[in-house]
Amino acid sequence: MAELASQTVIVQEEDIFFFCPNCGKSMVIDVRAVGLAVDCPNCRFEVEVPAESQEAPPAGALVPPGTEGGDRSAELRKALEVAQNDMQRLSAHLFDVTKRRRYLEKLRAAHIRQMEQISAHMQSLHAAMEGITAVLREAAREEPADEG
Ligand SMILES: [Zn+2]
Repeated sequence: MAELASQTVIVQEEDIFFFCPNCGKSMVIDVRAVGLAVDCPNCRFEVEVPAESQEAPPAGALVPPGTEGGDRSAELRKALEVAQNDMQRLSAHLFDVTKRRRYLEKLRAAHIRQMEQISAHMQSLHAAMEGITAVLREAAREEPADEG
């Protein structure tokens, strides 16, 4: 198996220009290498050097970043558009959630005030209960006979 040399190659007329069928990486090799198996420098996939130069990466190949053609940028534009729509939808949703959160915070503050009021009333009630209990205890201790 021959290893492909450096990244900067001067392409000769008789060189074979081809693509890795696995990852789409472009490669150039001397015409004498036709039919030989070479390792893709990008993904290490074993590629047989074709008899003729190829024009485009094979269908289904993963095109490495920075080498995409026109179709790819159209795809990216479409993806960007979808992402922007998602962003708008999420922003609107965030606005709703923020509004709802503010409402719930107000509600919670009101509940806290009510709980404080209830707590104050409970304390009065507790004090009253203690007073009543004390009176009842006193009443139970007193023997009716003592009074006569
Ligand atoms: Zn590859």
